Amino acid sequence: MAKKDRFAALDELVFLPLGGSGEIGMNFNAYGFGPPDDRQWIIVDCGVLFGREGHTPGVDLILPDIRYLAEQRENVLGIVATHAHEDHIGAIAPLWPSLRCPVYATPFTARLIGGKLEEAGLSEKVRVKEVPVGGQLTLGPFTLDFISITHSILEPNVLAIRTPLGVVAHTGDWKIDPDPLLGERTDTEALEKLGNEGVLALVCDSTNALVPGSSGSEAEVRETLIQLVGTLKGRVAVTGFASNVARLDTVARAAKAAGRRIALVGRSMQKMADAARETGYLKDFPPVLDEADAADLPPHKVLYMCTGSQGEPRAALARIADNSHPNVQLSEGDTVIFSSRVIPGNELAIAEIQNKLAGRGVGLLTVEDHHIHVSGHPCRDELAQMYRWIRPKLALPVHGEMRHQVAHAKLARELQVPQALVPENGQMFRLAPGRPELIDEVPSGRLHLDGRVLVAAGEGLAKDRRAMGFAGLLVVSLVVDSKGRVAAPPVVLGEGMPEPVEAAVLKAVEDTLDGNTKGGRGRADPDDLAENVRRAARRAAHDAWGKKPITRVLVSEI
Ligand SMILES: [Zn+2]
Ligand SMILES: [Zn+2]
Repeated sequence: MAKKDRFAALDELVFLPLGGSGEIGMNFNAYGFGPPDDRQWIIVDCGVLFGREGHTPGVDLILPDIRYLAEQRENVLGIVATHAHEDHIGAIAPLWPSLRCPVYATPFTARLIGGKLEEAGLSEKVRVKEVPVGGQLTLGPFTLDFISITHSILEPNVLAIRTPLGVVAHTGDWKIDPDPLLGERTDTEALEKLGNEGVLALVCDSTNALVPGSSGSEAEVRETLIQLVGTLKGRVAVTGFASNVARLDTVARAAKAAGRRIALVGRSMQKMADAARETGYLKDFPPVLDEADAADLPPHKVLYMCTGSQGEPRAALARIADNSHPNVQLSEGDTVIFSSRVIPGNELAIAEIQNKLAGRGVGLLTVEDHHIHVSGHPCRDELAQMYRWIRPKLALPVHGEMRHQVAHAKLARELQVPQALVPENGQMFRLAPGRPELIDEVPSGRLHLDGRVLVAAGEGLAKDRRAMGFAGLLVVSLVVDSKGRVAAPPVVLGEGMPEPVEAAVLKAVEDTLDGNTKGGRGRADPDDLAENVRRAARRAAHDAWGKKPITRVLVSEI
């Protein structure tokens, strides 16, 4: 960069993703404005990724590492949420204490963020500021227009982010649903107008960049579900994402059309319905039956809408499949409708649930045979439409795995976008002035919410836990006197290993202690002794078993 340019325009507009680029979930994007040593920041979305038991055992939530912004939090003007999905708002409550900035969202999103802050005990400290649907918000040098679009939840927004150096369009998650059933339709006029203004960069959803065509409409799903439920005889349970309120409304209508009463099963189902009603949606939703009352109705009079479509072990459907749900029992002649897709990684958990249900004679209807789900993300035709509206100088594909982002960038170039850059978490791009380019890399990564404690993902906890899951934990306890002599018989404790291993290890430990005593005139440095014993114990476990457990030696001095 020429020195002259720096002086001519000290202010820069930069884009910095700290989550959601190169991975699905955990979306976190920041925009900075000002001179390089004194930028002001806004954060767009602050989401989580759910831990996977096999990968990160014991970790429920994975969050972006935002220490770069936390260290300059006095310059962070606010967090703005595009919509209420967990991968966009789930990290606000756990990360808020390190940012301590205001939070902004449209009413439905604000209501759900508010609920999370309350659960985290933060509602006294931070109030979510509501921006009206289609409204505007000014934060320092940034003025944001909220432009309505469609997705698989109420109130998704494209943000037109205006700065003195130009405009960026940040799409959030979106699709073009010609009939979303509930909420606003896509404000095509505003998007076209934005494009006519001239847009520096389009920061856009890449989830379905590999999928040809269009994602389809909620209205088509409504038609199929109403028709399908009408053909069923026994109890019907429909499972899907609780956050898709239009789908929830569809299921209620399908129940009504078939003369069934609806019961909502699972906490998040109730929570979403309440949030929608309190913000003015679902006005003619039928009265909801209590689970326990629903059980008293004849099978053909009831329809359950359940959480757990992704096989989540604690959700309603998993418990119903296990026959351990307190109020909902399904059996021969009943049907479960999966009105959802399988999120990659959840295949086995879902198959396990489906096997249990099928084994009891419960019928299964899925997207494989019926048009009972549509994606909430733009396929290639929809992406092309967005680029025709916005006509940006630069495409910045986010929200996807690397292969989605790369395909998205290629598509943008084919659509005559002059420049496309694929961002990775932690990369800072200068968008203006001058030709956009990568200018810096800042610390980024993942945090694990482990119980109630936030830990850096690299600290090895998950690794240790996986190792313990594979080969258990071996503890050897030694007692030595002040002169380093062994003063009591050793104790060996093996957790999570077959019976003979402990005995083999004990024998090896005793032999090692004997050897140390004889060769070393009865004394040894406690640290050396512990290390010798640890190695001998691990070797003995491996000889007896073929596996090396995590091994700890405790030395007590008396
Ligand atoms: Zn998302
Ligand atoms: Zn979303």
